[in-house]
Amino acid sequence: MKQSLKNMYIKNKRVLVRCDLNVPIKAGNVLDETKIIKSLKTINYLLENNCKIIIMSHLGRIKNEDDKKENTLLPVKNVLSRLLNTEVKFADDILSEETKNIALNLQPKEILLLENTRFLDIPNNLESTLNDDTAKKLASLGEVFVLDAFASAHRAHTTVVGIPKYLPNCLGFLFEEELNMLNDNLLDPKPPFTVIMGGAKVDDKLEIIKSLLPKCDHLLVSGGIANSFLASLGLNVGTSLKTTNETIIEELKNLMLKYKEKFAFPLDAIVESTYNKTPTLKNINQIKAEDIIKDIGSKTTAKYSSIINESETIFLNGTMGVYEENAFKNGTMEIFNTLKNTSGNVIIGGGDTISAMNNLGFKDTFKNVSSGGGATLEYIAKNTLPGIEAISEEDNIETLDL
Ligand code: ADP
Ligand code: MG
Repeated sequence: MKQSLKNMYIKNKRVLVRCDLNVPIKAGNVLDETKIIKSLKTINYLLENNCKIIIMSHLGRIKNEDDKKENTLLPVKNVLSRLLNTEVKFADDILSEETKNIALNLQPKEILLLENTRFLDIPNNLESTLNDDTAKKLASLGEVFVLDAFASAHRAHTTVVGIPKYLPNCLGFLFEEELNMLNDNLLDPKPPFTVIMGGAKVDDKLEIIKSLLPKCDHLLVSGGIANSFLASLGLNVGTSLKTTNETIIEELKNLMLKYKEKFAFPLDAIVESTYNKTPTLKNINQIKAEDIIKDIGSKTTAKYSSIINESETIFLNGTMGVYEENAFKNGTMEIFNTLKNTSGNVIIGGGDTISAMNNLGFKDTFKNVSSGGGATLEYIAKNTLPGIEAISEEDNIETLDL
């Protein structure tokens, strides 16, 4: 077991917390506060324990100076301050002497939010490539490090895996909640266990597919992923999105042979053609060279729904079609509807899958939603993450108590 915040000696200490406050922001307004609200559990616990709190997070992608303007954490500071009903200090120059002074002079229950850690990437990638010097400097701001950013834990970045090398450390409450949810539901899932795997590229999903196939009873394949499987079987998928990687195609063929009875493939599809943009329903064996598969059809939805309804555990990752376009969101909507009404235990994970869930009217519908995006998928495939590896084992608590 990894060291937990609830067992750490933190009273009155300066605690450095790596959160995931990577929220959508437009024109200085936070559009969705969910990630900030979820982080409050750990922050409130630190406040109750009279800690001096230093919060870090990344926000968006920072490739150049211009990206900085749109990705400042200042709007997040304002939301945090409102939600906690207290002043939150802000430091925009993360590694400066001034920031260090503010951190070292924090009083119990005072909070300092550091600017977007990815600003450190300009010009020398000090966040996104593990940099020990930077990790040491950041560690010197606190006395204890808490990793609460589950969604960033698949990245071996400085503020995720670097800082815990230099400070007593533990996992935060939100991180533990995410892990427990995945472990409780997917380590030993109640059979029949059905996995619905959709989305864009099979190349990104091969690891998770390989890890789930031995465990599941049914794998319902959809989206661009289905195209790759169907093409490997020799079916014509026209100009649809599919893998061209020969090694992966061989692997798909081997998986289909080995787990033949577990696979379910689309029976029909909604296609668009290069000449005719009108969405058209076709049987899967009628796809022409000029067709582009963009959603599953009604026969497929019915078949997949009946398998879902006979399952005790269902894990969904990836959308059934190009849900971003109105004409091709139906398959995904139908599957969400089936999942909403089924009696089995439903677990949902993946960045775009959750966006689709929220955008298509299923926000707050499901209990077991893993918000980790790429981290969720990597954790399910490998049962660990670089961020988890970086945190001390529970046994080491005596040495942390000094
Ligand atoms: P997640 O981020 O949850 O792991 P993905 O990114 O794999 O999920 O899946 C969502 C993406 O898959 C969407 O952008 C959607 O447009 C795309 N997609 C689904 N079906 C198809 C298809 N038939 N052709 C092209 N793209 C598809
Ligand atoms: Mg995605």
